[in-house]
Amino acid sequence: MGAEGCFGGIDIGGTKIYAIVTDREGAILASAKKKSKAHQGFETVMERAVSCLKEACDEADVKTGKLAAVGVGAPSPILPDGTAVNAPNMKWFHVPLVPTLHKALGVPVFAENDCNAGALGEYALGAGRGCRSLVGFFVGTGLGGGMVFDGELLRGANLMAAELGHVIVHVGGRRCGCGHNGCLEAYASKTGMARRLAWETLHQGRETMLTELCDGDFASIKSSALREAYRAGDELAVETLHEMADYLGVGVANTITSLGPEVVVLGGGVFEALGEDLLGRVRDAAAAHTHPPDSFADTRILLASLADDAVALGAMVYARAGAEGPDNG
Ligand SMILES: [Zn+2]
Repeated sequence: MGAEGCFGGIDIGGTKIYAIVTDREGAILASAKKKSKAHQGFETVMERAVSCLKEACDEADVKTGKLAAVGVGAPSPILPDGTAVNAPNMKWFHVPLVPTLHKALGVPVFAENDCNAGALGEYALGAGRGCRSLVGFFVGTGLGGGMVFDGELLRGANLMAAELGHVIVHVGGRRCGCGHNGCLEAYASKTGMARRLAWETLHQGRETMLTELCDGDFASIKSSALREAYRAGDELAVETLHEMADYLGVGVANTITSLGPEVVVLGGGVFEALGEDLLGRVRDAAAAHTHPPDSFADTRILLASLADDAVALGAMVYARAGAEGPDNG
């Protein structure tokens, strides 16, 4: 196949960079992975992203400079000029993300917030394929969201909307990393669950096999450890994950009540590990809180299907639209 019909997708995260090369339809021809080494600064991450994409291109036997466009997903709001505004875990504040990669790669580059990209990936190529509107919830260390309606990401007038993890679901509730209290992320994320586990074990004297599974450091707990404890019937693990699912269901219900999407997708590490176990509980909580009750039946709540490829594929879809859009045709 001619390289002109090929696209690149790069998922830049706090710990790793994942790059793919695809055909025009999004079939992955090759991929590569690298540590981000974010602590070494923005320039290092950019160099590593470029070399990661080049590695995937080599593997696919495609010249990097011949890619039709490259899409990038990064954990930050992205301004129209390609500036990444604020990525606390990368220590990025107003860095020239797109200009830097464009200069290094010599092809059109388009960047989007990683959760927006993930939602777009699931919409175009994953669990939501064929639907008109989709809202994604990605539960990992934090809780990220993305909303796609008629193929367009919903970013709001401020370009920063879709922060579904920071919708308040409990006034005066558990403290969130963002400084507010009672955000959805304070319950429906590994960080939120870690707070509860620390409280229950330190202040209530409760025991859980999770303490040993994470060496007493709940903040670093892995989704696989949560799954192991949940499936072993560990009482505190089950309670904590059920609380997570119940709150997430409320978040899903609020989304259905306000936007009525055709599909809600649940993804991220926690749902990759425990999706089958928790999907029913999230659905029940969503059904119990959606208004009007009948409207619930019109939304399909599904598990994400692209796993670790979602962000890179969504970024590729975003770049394809940008490169082939009316402004660039
Ligand atoms: Zn918050």
